[in-house]
Amino acid sequence: MKFPRIDIDLEKISHNVRSIKKLYGSKRIKIIGVTKLICGDPVLASVLVKNGIKTLADSRIANIKRMKQYGVKAEFMLLRSPAWSEINEVITNVDISLNTEIIILKKLSKVAVKNNVIHKVILMIEMGDLREGIMPFEIDAIVNKVIKLKGLFLIGIGTNLACFNGESPNAIKMNELSLIALYLERKFNISLPIISGGNSANYHWFICSKNVGRINNLRIGESFFLGIEPIMGNSIPDLYTNAFILVAEVIESKTKHNKKVYFETKKKTTKRIIVAIGEQDVLVSGIFPIQNVVIIGASSDHLVLDCNNCTLNIGDIVTFNLNYKALLRVFNSKYVIKKYN
Ligand SMILES: *Cc1c(COP(=O)(O)O)cnc(C)c1O
Repeated sequence: MKFPRIDIDLEKISHNVRSIKKLYGSKRIKIIGVTKLICGDPVLASVLVKNGIKTLADSRIANIKRMKQYGVKAEFMLLRSPAWSEINEVITNVDISLNTEIIILKKLSKVAVKNNVIHKVILMIEMGDLREGIMPFEIDAIVNKVIKLKGLFLIGIGTNLACFNGESPNAIKMNELSLIALYLERKFNISLPIISGGNSANYHWFICSKNVGRINNLRIGESFFLGIEPIMGNSIPDLYTNAFILVAEVIESKTKHNKKVYFETKKKTTKRIIVAIGEQDVLVSGIFPIQNVVIIGASSDHLVLDCNNCTLNIGDIVTFNLNYKALLRVFNSKYVIKKYN
């Protein structure tokens, strides 16, 4: 067996997907599966689809193409606003995109007409996160233009919170989004079937809300894969938080004399373990050893552990839990082998 390795428990992820779907479904909220954390990994994307997710969303067209090439059967959504340079690819590879710029929408329209397709769009509204979004007072003018653009079909509005500015989804903001939907439908005599309220961070709002208003859609990634809600970082009841385990191999095990006290430890001698993994494989600040060892530090390719009284030896393995950013790095590293169980 080769290391470093990420062990992926497909049963646990299946369970998480079914539980999340059921939870949000209890108040008629449909879930779009977000695959950017796992870089559009087709095996995992298939697990989402097998467990009832009909639409998959990713920030990158490369990931969407990868899933399609592998034969993942779903509707595909582009999460990040389309770039000017990728409009052709968006129209030919993606069913729905999230948009904020009229100049981009006009080009999407042109290319959709040329390709003889109808491209679905959701307009994103800025509600405090200060990442992507149209300012609420500008939404009228944009909707007025979008509904006249050929080749585009405005299917809804959405917002994204808690990703950049830490602004959390709450009843006031979700209610505001519902009201904007209602207002636009009346003013332009249209119907907006999708009101997409946010991401995994909408968990607390959802649990605390008897009435979710017009919100009928969320885009979920982190909760599926890590079993947590990102606001407090707490685990969601009944979900697995350990579907991914990182495994690496010990390549040095020595008792070292700490003459100059390089590290924070005051001990004169300590048992030091070197593990063959580093920043090239994973974000070391986002991994947590399962064994009783302490991470002292890391470089590109070496992880140093303090392991007083531990029995780890050359060739032994060390296992770790991971947070969002660490898992993201693992999926972006060509050095980490994936093992699906
Ligand atoms: C990443 C992202 C999501 C999903 O976020 P999770 O925390 O993984 O649930 C949803 N919407 C947008 C626009 C995103 O960029």
